[in-house]
Amino acid sequence: MSYTLENFLGKDPSHLVEVPEFKNCMLTAETAAAFKAMHDAAVKDGLNLIPVSSYRSFDRQLTIWNEKYLGDRKVLDNHNNPVNISQLTGIEAAYAILYWSALPGFSRHHWGTDLDVAADNLMPDGYELQLVSSEYQEGGIFYPLTQWLNENMEKFGFFRPFTDNSHVRVGTELWHLSYRPEAEKFLAFVTRENIETLIRSSSIAGKYCLLNMVDELYNDYIINSDNKDLRFNA
Ligand SMILES: [Zn+2]
Repeated sequence: MSYTLENFLGKDPSHLVEVPEFKNCMLTAETAAAFKAMHDAAVKDGLNLIPVSSYRSFDRQLTIWNEKYLGDRKVLDNHNNPVNISQLTGIEAAYAILYWSALPGFSRHHWGTDLDVAADNLMPDGYELQLVSSEYQEGGIFYPLTQWLNENMEKFGFFRPFTDNSHVRVGTELWHLSYRPEAEKFLAFVTRENIETLIRSSSIAGKYCLLNMVDELYNDYIINSDNKDLRFNA
């Protein structure tokens, strides 16, 4: 199946299917099949692997971005400490948000090929999931899941796009998985022109700062210029 610019931007989810086995889960059909196979294998090894976030629309990402930019939603730094957005310039605020959040239209969660995962049998009753590094690293409740994924995800076609520690501008996300065979089909839409057109035509907070940052957005946040691997934020 080939995909459109509107699919890529999170504006048209007609390429996705609901996955009835999981709550609020929308993925491409191929991604869903691969994830279900990986889920079954994890269950056999004692881990109830579940998606906690899958498809996210452009409008949802725009709301998250705008709330963060305007100070109505928490922004965290690379040590998960809160950032006081009101003390930053517009450009500094954009950089701070980009550490953990994607530019609307350029989130891998728009594609239906990427998902954030946890294992619900590792969570104590009433546990509130935070999706922070300490939960997934050694000593954290999901560390057994991290180890299982390290061993097994590639067999099912999954990889982690946000784990290059040398790339300091975007956080390492051990919980974010991407189904490579499908995600690759979206890469052709990643162009400077599409970034600029999208910013210009949207009601994004900080629009004029962002229009001055198109080259940096492209080189540092979307394409990792060190290895030309595509990143895209969560
Ligand atoms: Zn994610």
